[in-house]
Amino acid sequence: QVTLQNIHKSFGAVDVVKGLDLDVKDGEFLVLLGASGSGKTTALRMIAGLETVTSGIVRIGERDVTNILPKYRDIAMVFQSYALYPHKTVFANIAYPLTVRKHPKAEIEAAVKDVARQVQLDQLLDRYPRQLSGGQRQRVALARAIIRRPAAFLMDEPLSNLDAKLRGHMRAELKHMQHELGITTIYVTHDQVEAMTLAHRVALLDKGVLQQLDTPANIYNRPANLFVAGFIGSPP
Ligand code: ATP
Repeated sequence: QVTLQNIHKSFGAVDVVKGLDLDVKDGEFLVLLGASGSGKTTALRMIAGLETVTSGIVRIGERDVTNILPKYRDIAMVFQSYALYPHKTVFANIAYPLTVRKHPKAEIEAAVKDVARQVQLDQLLDRYPRQLSGGQRQRVALARAIIRRPAAFLMDEPLSNLDAKLRGHMRAELKHMQHELGITTIYVTHDQVEAMTLAHRVALLDKGVLQQLDTPANIYNRPANLFVAGFIGSPP
């Protein structure tokens, strides 16, 4: 569970996020949707702890993490580029968060096998990233992110660098994995198709203000205001 309470963020005199309240439930896939500059990435970075809040409270689980460093927040973040290590095998890439923390070898092996099975990479552990398809690479990045069993998973436009065909394919993969794994996820995108197909609920932001937080069906069929209707293209 991730909770934002009346979050504000200003850069100098510019208010970028203005009083954001969000409540992401356990296992929920929540999409932060909005046009460029609406404050989505800033909001996500405040949840990750990569950006301080100007005011407000961030909670992960029961903990107030507002003033806690990113590495102690129990979250995992996946960025646009999957940033796999090209000279490490799939196994070593997935294991990395545990090897740097010097976990025992047997424990690492068991953990890698476990997540690899969940994301269907168990047959590919000896390969190198260049020997994988885009979808398989994405799964390696996700496996690496979830191996420590974070309380929440943060993704910022992870599909935005891909061509349309691959994006559709990856979207389907993400949806499938979300279904399998049920990890609490906050996903930033400006792509409403992505939002509507992936999300349990969508939070639509405009100029740092939350316009509607609802299921894709309700956002489409019952837009809260004219901005939402216009953005989504709901029938009048
Ligand atoms: P995009 O989809 O283009 O990434 P976004 O909705 O994620 O947009 P943010 O990246 O959160 O938007 O940016 C919101 C606003 O805050 C923008 O006007 C941006 O220029 C400004 N901004 C972001 N980071 C900083 C910073 N470090 N210093 C000053 N202004 C910033």
